[in-house]
Amino acid sequence: MATRDEEVYDYLFKVVMIGDSGVGKSNLLMRYTKGDFNIESKTTIGVEFATKSIKTQDKKVIKAQIWDTAGQERYRAITNAYYRGAVGALLVYDVTSMQSFQHVANWLKELKQYADSNIVILLVGNKTDLKDKREVKKEDAAQYADQHSLAFIETSALDCSNVDLAFDRIINEIYKVIS
Ligand code: GDP
Ligand code: MG
Repeated sequence: MATRDEEVYDYLFKVVMIGDSGVGKSNLLMRYTKGDFNIESKTTIGVEFATKSIKTQDKKVIKAQIWDTAGQERYRAITNAYYRGAVGALLVYDVTSMQSFQHVANWLKELKQYADSNIVILLVGNKTDLKDKREVKKEDAAQYADQHSLAFIETSALDCSNVDLAFDRIINEIYKVIS
């Protein structure tokens, strides 16, 4: 039986959310997919994913399947099933936590180890609404992203700034790479 979930699409992109626990990954995903979302749980392997379809300028329908952890990053216990087949990664840190930014290097190492070498990575500095608590300068993160050939954006899941732009950007970047 056809359900809304089985709509026609031209491409299916698996995108994974990674980064330290507490940086706002789940909130970013909820913000992006709210209103048009479809959370499916794979509790056995401790992941959840949400899907959202977008249309490209040339009228192709891309279904993004965005995977979120169920907190295993706290124990550094993300399995390689999480990374398998992923064509994009949102690597999130918290602009109010220098530590979460310093850990970006570890996450890149993990991506190198488990993910496809062509994976498109968007570095995301989240929680820009907490202006007084900022510990990571935008210029420093931009420079780091440049050095490591990552796309970069700052967001706030709380006040919504740049959230749609972040996801749309990675999906478009992936589309550019594969088309
Ligand atoms: P995750 O562990 O990376 O999935 O992080 P969560 O999405 O669970 O968020 C961790 C905490 O940070 C929660 O208390 C959220 O309410 C808070 N949080 C997430 N995003 C933002 C944001 O953009 N601004 C602020 N001020 N808090 C946020
Ligand atoms: Mg989470």
